[in-house]
Amino acid sequence: MSIITIAPLPPGAKPAAPPLQKETTAGSYFITNYPPFNFWKPEFVPALHSAMAQLPRASVPLGLYTHIPFCRKRCHFCYFKVYTDKDSSEIKGYIEAVLKEFALYAGQPFVGGRKPKFIYFGGGTPSYLSPEQLRHLTDGMKQLLPWDDAEEITFEAEPGTLTDHKLRAIRELGVTRLSLGIEHFDDHILEINGRAHRSKEIARAYAYAREIGFPQINIDLIAGMVEETEDKWKDAVAQALTLQPDSLTIYQMEVPFNTGIYQQMKAQGKLVAPVADWETKRRWVDYAFREFERAGYAVNSTSTVVRDPAKVKFLYREGLFSGADLLSVGVASFGHINGVHYQNQADFDPYLAKVNAGELPIFRAYPTQPDERYIREFMLMLKLGANSRSQFAAKFGADPLEQFAAPLKQLQDWGCLTVDGDRLTLTRDALLQVDRLLIEFFKPEHRAKRTS
Ligand code: SF4
Repeated sequence: MSIITIAPLPPGAKPAAPPLQKETTAGSYFITNYPPFNFWKPEFVPALHSAMAQLPRASVPLGLYTHIPFCRKRCHFCYFKVYTDKDSSEIKGYIEAVLKEFALYAGQPFVGGRKPKFIYFGGGTPSYLSPEQLRHLTDGMKQLLPWDDAEEITFEAEPGTLTDHKLRAIRELGVTRLSLGIEHFDDHILEINGRAHRSKEIARAYAYAREIGFPQINIDLIAGMVEETEDKWKDAVAQALTLQPDSLTIYQMEVPFNTGIYQQMKAQGKLVAPVADWETKRRWVDYAFREFERAGYAVNSTSTVVRDPAKVKFLYREGLFSGADLLSVGVASFGHINGVHYQNQADFDPYLAKVNAGELPIFRAYPTQPDERYIREFMLMLKLGANSRSQFAAKFGADPLEQFAAPLKQLQDWGCLTVDGDRLTLTRDALLQVDRLLIEFFKPEHRAKRTS
């Protein structure tokens, strides 16, 4: 198949480099949704109520997301809504509220008789809950929205919270994909970054999880934590390889404004975060990717490698990226119903107050337009490395080469993307910095301000 060039550069001309940012400064750089969160507004919440009153669009799957906002300790790089000071009665109250929230949705027309295809427990630390609390939560969820068609149930876990007993209970709930937040294997790095667990707990939890036989185990690492070094990173990659996980996810450390690291930077009047620069982080991820590829793994997104791409799927990510309905509950959680994005109340007490008054705890929403849904899905799917022109043309009625002529030309001119027949493929270097390249696809009105 021949390589098509949309607009060849004049002979001898060098493609301009994409704009580079070297140091890690404060802010959110990763694109997880579109349009950006700061365009989601309280005044759009009625649009969500209208969307809930409609039947589902044909063949759109339904997924569930439950946010568990509790952690043993707040990591210094954490930007999630988490609580480390809630006692068992507050946790119990939260679980009851989550079930009440599910009940408010369960009978609505948008469900349309669908059973969830994928389910995700995220946080926070879902494994912070006791086996009894987890059983109560999941029994209640199953009564409202039966899980018998669920093909994937993902559960995030922090190694230090996992006993043999709890891991067995988690498997018995039906969890098929256990995602272990390891982040690093070096005890000093774990400690200085505020992690609650240590390397011994990783080894014990991983061995238990394998013994119990979870169908899929993912492990997370972070490239560029505070005091990371070349040697320590290589050692972390080697240790991750020894575990032979079904998949490995590597995040490049970013320092959003609501992190402990940023608070410290502000207090010291520093603009540059005390973590590796972006070029180094990309090099470290590339090193990990190459080591895993040598061991037979395949890179299947900007941040993941999988042992067997034919078997190891991630339906939650696929559904989230391709516009599935995501019924999302819990404080600060993000969902999507019939074309409308929404986010819940971001604080504990207002969230509980709303649900306990029998109201949906929605804080803000955004009714997407058809062109925005096309941009969103095209960008997010590009984070997997390549897009099929024919698939997008069939779904959205326009060839991406025409719909996105200007940004695709820009990426080609930068040497970041090739067009080979049906395939639009990012280079490895582009894949590792895809988030800043995706801004090229934004509508002009969404470019200036894109964080929450
Ligand atoms: S364990 Fe995860 S969610 Fe909890 S504080 Fe650390 S990074 Fe945040």
